[in-house]
Amino acid sequence: MIDLEAALAELREQGLHRSTRLVSGPQGPQVLVDGQPVLLLCSNNYLGFADHPRVREAAADAAMRWGVGAGASRVVSGTMTIHDRLEERLAEFERSEACVLFGSGYLANVGVISALAPRGSTVFSDALNHASIVDGCRLARAATFIYEHCDLDHLAWGLRRAPRGGLIVTDSVFSMDGDVAPLAEIVELAAERGARVVVDEAHATGALGPGGRGAVAEAGLEGAVDVIVGTLGKALGSYGAYVCASGVTVEYLVNAARTLIFSTAPPPPAVAGALAALELLCEQPGRVDKLATNAAAMRSALARHGLAVADGRTQIIPLVIGGAAETVALSAAALERGVFVQAIRPPSVAAESSRLRITMMASHSASDVQRAAAAIAAAARAVGVDFRSPGEPARATIGRAA
Ligand code: PMP
Repeated sequence: MIDLEAALAELREQGLHRSTRLVSGPQGPQVLVDGQPVLLLCSNNYLGFADHPRVREAAADAAMRWGVGAGASRVVSGTMTIHDRLEERLAEFERSEACVLFGSGYLANVGVISALAPRGSTVFSDALNHASIVDGCRLARAATFIYEHCDLDHLAWGLRRAPRGGLIVTDSVFSMDGDVAPLAEIVELAAERGARVVVDEAHATGALGPGGRGAVAEAGLEGAVDVIVGTLGKALGSYGAYVCASGVTVEYLVNAARTLIFSTAPPPPAVAGALAALELLCEQPGRVDKLATNAAAMRSALARHGLAVADGRTQIIPLVIGGAAETVALSAAALERGVFVQAIRPPSVAAESSRLRITMMASHSASDVQRAAAAIAAAARAVGVDFRSPGEPARATIGRAA
């Protein structure tokens, strides 16, 4: 039997213990942490919709109209009209034949992969895919081939050694590094080997592509990717997820994805909130540009302060430190200086690649960005970051906190 106290003590010793912070108020550009106002740089509320008045109002109205809960799984108590409405709008948005909602992005990935990868087939999964994809692979009866991050030669090698067919799964924007998968090449390899492609657009929807329609649209691959997984919990400011695919694929998922069949459907207020956010995104595509502007401004401000940031073009900006304890010290020092930015440690990232994961929002002002960069730089100096690491320009190295 696992000794829970000993396990927790070991996590503490390794700098890997997690606890959550109490945040007052909505996920705006500024929040109260332990009663202190701080800039929020670790929320995925990328476009500022989670706290947008129209989105809040839509959710509140939906609660009055349809109630708070969906009552049961869709295959049991039925599809509510608000589910149907959002699915129709999302299919249009993704230029896709059909769409089905899931309880969350986690549930969508687990359900889709386990349904589309039966025994005897192979799932090909990028080494840095999100944990929900990893868990989907674990639950699927298929064999799993993990290819090196964005390594097309390794993927091609794996595809050649497996039976034809199978499922290639990738994040489009990787959640902890913010880089973008080579989608066009992946689709080409899949076509050669008769494999299906699943792309998780969790961090790309609302951030990349024309009108924020994601990395698949940006690469001109609509219709060429078999399954798009998106979440309602990030740029769309709510909770829940969606899968866009052909009509027959969606019909199959409704019959085979266990996380859809055996779990209560998304609650009406969350669905209506996401629908309002989607309408806002279509009306105000300038928010997508503002997000990109803020991300670029943060990258150059950090560089000006001497912090080496890896090249990138998305709203996710990793500041890789290495050790877990040092990264936690840096995060705490940033919070003391008015910036809430999370230390990301194993198992979310590989050993010795702990990092501050800075995420920008369109609702940050230009001065928020400058203030946050200055505070992070000051925190780094206070805990002893060594900026002069010429051998590793993408990394800051840090000494143990005094
Ligand atoms: N995929 C990726 C790439 C993610 O980063 C996340 C959330 N961190 C998810 C899926 C899960 O989405 P959700 O939060 O809606 O469960």
